[in-house]
Amino acid sequence: MDCLFCKIIAGEIPSKKVYENEYVYAFHDINPQAPTHILVIPKKHLASTDEVSGENSIYVAKVFEAIPQIAAEAGLTGGYRVITNCGADACQSVGHLHFHVLGGKQLPENMG
Ligand code: 5GP
Ligand code: ZN
Repeated sequence: MDCLFCKIIAGEIPSKKVYENEYVYAFHDINPQAPTHILVIPKKHLASTDEVSGENSIYVAKVFEAIPQIAAEAGLTGGYRVITNCGADACQSVGHLHFHVLGGKQLPENMG
């Protein structure tokens, strides 16, 4: 499958890994939009939230179980924002479900 994030999980494309377990991989975004900008992704290829179902939602649960540890290790004591973009209107640019963890500054109140 020609998926950028599947290739990152497989180590075929380098990334700055911050966390990994059986279900989850997390790495620094190549174009950070905050002092800390980490992408947390399921190791199973799901195109977006549109493909989440009862069959695979354990991957989403595992992502959210990992996020507090990832945020703590990144020093995000003041809080952080978790965002996922789904589809064209949300400007999703990589077709592998991913959750942006943004922090390290006061984030803007407006989300869209
Ligand atoms: P989206 O716009 O789909 O919500 O987010 C995709 C994110 O992936 C963007 O923030 C973009 O900077 C990041 N990204 C795209 N290609 C790469 C890459 O090769 N490596 C890393 N680490 N991040 C990438
Ligand atoms: Zn993929």
